[in-house]
Amino acid sequence: MAWRTATVADVRAETAAARTLVLEVPGWPGHQAGQHVDIRLTADDGYTASRSYSIASVADGELVEVTVERLDDGEVSPYLVDVVAPGDRLEVRGPVGGWFVWKPDQVEPVLLVGGGSGVVPLMSIVRRHVGSGSSAPLRLVYSLREPSATLYRDELAALAADGLPLTYVYTRRTPEGWPRPPGRLDAELLAASAFPPSESPTSYVCGPTGFVETVADLLVGAGHDHRRVRTERFGPSGGSS
Ligand SMILES: Cc1cc2nc3c(=O)[nH]c(=O)nc-3n(C[C@H](O)[C@H](O)[C@H](O)COP(=O)(O)OP(=O)(O)OC[C@H]3O[C@@H](n4cnc5c(N)ncnc54)[C@H](O)[C@@H]3O)c2cc1C
Repeated sequence: MAWRTATVADVRAETAAARTLVLEVPGWPGHQAGQHVDIRLTADDGYTASRSYSIASVADGELVEVTVERLDDGEVSPYLVDVVAPGDRLEVRGPVGGWFVWKPDQVEPVLLVGGGSGVVPLMSIVRRHVGSGSSAPLRLVYSLREPSATLYRDELAALAADGLPLTYVYTRRTPEGWPRPPGRLDAELLAASAFPPSESPTSYVCGPTGFVETVADLLVGAGHDHRRVRTERFGPSGGSS
């Protein structure tokens, strides 16, 4: 797959630690909801580093949006979150991935479970679902440390007000008056938010590796068919040379 030179068309702050980059990628072939890209940076001395980032946006000509959350000791993410500016150029390769995708011809219920920045490809699925007018039932469970870490806060609030079943799970700090103390997603909360296995939903689980494995185990333990549980692990990616 060839690297393409993309131009940063816009940047949007999502939280204090995350930004959405709008990339204009000449010759972009389009993508499906759930796929990702590889982004490569090259320093003046020729040193390169590449990382994978999920695509947040739906296919829209040559525009591709990614949302990057800063890892303070990271090599690439602090640069993408703190330094990159409109007009800058980055190399992009993709779209990548064919399993962790949702297509509008899927009519079964869809359960989306995201941990932290794992919500990014799920947002692409939600946006595609809304944009395609799909009548497949869809629910989103979003696990995050605290309210200030919420990605796509206003858009999610608008979607929830419009009827999207959305469950927030706060692991370290909750909003004031929240009915549940901070804690991890467990079997009980998942059962309350998910479709029953009898409805044969397809589940998409994305986030840090430990989160994904725990949630996938909970779903299978609750009787969901493991072949209908699609996972994407946000572990370390790419490399440097
Ligand atoms: C398919 C895929 C899609 C991804 N999509 C996104 C996305 O949409 N948004 C996003 O912000 N990130 C995403 N990631 C993670 C991203 O690829 C990088 O791993 C992340 O930005 C850190 O890169 P870095 O160069 O800053 O850190 P590095 O310099 O690579 O690592 C710094 C330290 O953090 C650890 N580390 C690296 N990556 C992670 C991680 N993801 N979680 C916890 N510890 C880590 C390393 O082991 C190391 O100790 C995705 C990963 C994959 C595999």
